[in-house]
Amino acid sequence: MKKVLIKNIKYIVTCDEEDRLIPEGFIYIEDGVIKEIGNQVSGTKAEDGLEEIIDGKDMIVYPGLINTHHHLYQYFTRNLPQVQNLELFDWLKTLYEIWKNLDEEVIRYSSLLGMGELIKNGCTTCFDHHYVFPHKTGSRLIDVQFEASEQLGIRFHASRGSMDLSKKDGGLPPDSVVQDIDSILNDSERLVRQYHNKEAGSRKQVALAPCSPFSVSADLLKESAVLARSLGVRLHTHLAETLDEETYTLEKYNMRPLEYMSELGWIGKDVWFAHGIHFNTAELKLLADTGTGIAHCPISNMKLSSGIARIPDMLKLNVPVGLAVDGSASNDGSNLLEEIRVAYLLHRLNSSKAAPSGYDILKLATAGSARVLGRKDIGQLSVGKMADLFMINSNNPELTGADFDPKSMLGTIGIKGNAALTMIGGEIAAKDGRLMTVDEEKTAYMGRQSVYKLMNQY
Ligand SMILES: [Zn+2]
Repeated sequence: MKKVLIKNIKYIVTCDEEDRLIPEGFIYIEDGVIKEIGNQVSGTKAEDGLEEIIDGKDMIVYPGLINTHHHLYQYFTRNLPQVQNLELFDWLKTLYEIWKNLDEEVIRYSSLLGMGELIKNGCTTCFDHHYVFPHKTGSRLIDVQFEASEQLGIRFHASRGSMDLSKKDGGLPPDSVVQDIDSILNDSERLVRQYHNKEAGSRKQVALAPCSPFSVSADLLKESAVLARSLGVRLHTHLAETLDEETYTLEKYNMRPLEYMSELGWIGKDVWFAHGIHFNTAELKLLADTGTGIAHCPISNMKLSSGIARIPDMLKLNVPVGLAVDGSASNDGSNLLEEIRVAYLLHRLNSSKAAPSGYDILKLATAGSARVLGRKDIGQLSVGKMADLFMINSNNPELTGADFDPKSMLGTIGIKGNAALTMIGGEIAAKDGRLMTVDEEKTAYMGRQSVYKLMNQY
């Protein structure tokens, strides 16, 4: 049994049900699970047989951040001049001409680098929405992502995404990246059976995630929902991201996006949507009543001029909301600490006194995201939860005079460097801005070779 003690912690921000802030704290961990947490004045009995003691002097410890929506493959198509002034539909149509040449190496190195950036900035669980499967590339892309997540030590929720409507059928993507429904469902079932682990402490899960209402057919949406429920896995897609999407479903199906998805079985506790910007009040109530979740992606929504999700209203109604970076090409990064800061400022600007506090936004990225992913074992620091956490060094000169409210600090002040340490399941995954299990220089070099190859085909 591996026993780890973190002691002398300046503050522990637990994000638990009582919103406890523990000064002068300690956390005792056995085999990756928190066994004791508290104030060290009262002391721990767990001093014997310790394998590792971590000094938490000056540190503020937070629960690991949880990312509820991403497209890691986009890590290699950031900051491209030709798409900087575009909104979603034109942005997608332009980028598909590059993405149609994705291969296993692009997926491997973009996953390692994108999730590496997340880990260095306090993220301990990542969901990725991968839906581009070029015909010439084979079917191992999700397997490669799981290999990358294992190498990094991060908890990884993959998705078997999909598209079956290409340009010739009125969709946006080229023919060479869409698949037929049978191939999609067969591979979805294979991946769930091979990787999905629903036990506490799971490091691998799979969701079914057709891309969006405007790139998949009604049949694929309906059959994906039936298959997901028969396999006991979650459902995810993009929804209510743009007004173009609303126009599309109104013209094609005479329904608003949520009504259309609801008709196809896409509503309930096992469903979460990315973005959720253009919902009306009745639709927000429906999300709350059914426990349908939202992945809030403020940076991407600002970058693509998509709009501002009604987060204060969602929180008031108790809609499950998590935080997410969205794809690297509409962010243009992979950093949840940055997302917390931007989310905080965006809603201050838009909602003034009704805006969530810095701590409310931190809770979206931790307990809120855990709820959206259907996990009870992560998202807060308390006895029985996984030892997923990160530390910020309050002694950094730029944080001088900034820790009067440690719970809100990540929103109000924001963290500009990396976390001092990120731990996942009791193992240190990154320290002082360096990943522990991956050679970053070599990975970056290999990544650059993949970028050159990808862009040379464009
Ligand atoms: Zn997305």
